[in-house]
Amino acid sequence: MSFFRSDLDNLPAYVAGKAGSDPNIIKLASNEMPFGTLPTVKAVLEEHLGTLNVYPDMMAVRMREEIASHQGVNIDQVATSNGSVNMIEKILGAVCEPGGEIVYAWRSFESYPIAVNLAGGTSVRVPLTQAGEHDLEAMAKAVTDKTRAIILCSPNNPTGTALTHTQLAGFLNAVDERIPVILDEAYIHFVRHDDPIRSVELLNRHGNLIILRTFSKAYSLAGLRVGYALAESSVADKLRSVGTPFGVSTLGQAAAVAALHDVEEVMRRSDFVAAERDRVSTALADLGFTIPKSEANFVWFEMTKTEPFVEIAARHLITVRAFAGDGVRVSIGSVEANDRIIATATEFAQHIGLTRRS
Ligand SMILES: *Cc1c(COP(=O)(O)O)cnc(C)c1O
Repeated sequence: MSFFRSDLDNLPAYVAGKAGSDPNIIKLASNEMPFGTLPTVKAVLEEHLGTLNVYPDMMAVRMREEIASHQGVNIDQVATSNGSVNMIEKILGAVCEPGGEIVYAWRSFESYPIAVNLAGGTSVRVPLTQAGEHDLEAMAKAVTDKTRAIILCSPNNPTGTALTHTQLAGFLNAVDERIPVILDEAYIHFVRHDDPIRSVELLNRHGNLIILRTFSKAYSLAGLRVGYALAESSVADKLRSVGTPFGVSTLGQAAAVAALHDVEEVMRRSDFVAAERDRVSTALADLGFTIPKSEANFVWFEMTKTEPFVEIAARHLITVRAFAGDGVRVSIGSVEANDRIIATATEFAQHIGLTRRS
């Protein structure tokens, strides 16, 4: 329709992973957890089902208190949102003027270009390195006087690579503190390398750092849409004021509090996924694949022609996420699902004539 801004004509589409109706097919296309709702969360949700005629707590005080104590920050450093994608849109909308540049790595999360366009900004995409990692040096160099924000995604969706604390600290020191650095840590629970980002520690020194977290991944709550940001108080205050009023539902707030309390089960689930990811990664390396070192709940196969892989996966009863021209992302699931990933990769390796590592 012509009443929409013409710069939104070519908005890239967010392609959701196919759900499908065949119960034999396992969906490994959306990085969802292979476990249901946390039992402790389920019990708490039931308590609220009879009073949904009432609006949620607009300031999400209980939830923010819980996040603050969990993260060791002040409650005024926490801003909540209807999923972290909503927070990304809000932040970019609040910092970007027409023509403002948003620097981010590419390929990265497909929500970024949509949010940038919506905010009237221009994407400055800095290619990932050969290893699928952020090229922080090139990203720092891509900053101009038009730059309105930088987005870092660690672990990066879809390559799975994670920044180290040393890298992040160095980057923040190098970047002009007037430019917000948005750090998307949706997959932080799955990181197992030996210099993990301790982003919260860096908030004191860097007033331009905005940390994004979500309940959609390790907390197994993607269906409820809950996310939050951590930042210096004045920044978080602004994020709260531009946030959607009542953005996090009553159920979302209650679930978040309960999920944060269930540290042990969340850890057990994350440990399972991380161990399975490493099992799959090792099997892929043995088959001869060179894939980026994943610290997330998915693995990435770089390839220009994705159809053969998708077809072989379908025959092994898994759906994967293809990014045309770039590669295929496969989420880590149950043991059975992951065996199917390995079976798919084994057949695909034969298809392209890959030689096994001995
Ligand atoms: C899944 C994901 C999110 C989570 O988004 P929600 O809106 O909170 O579900 C955020 N960032 C990245 C990079 C993701 O892959």
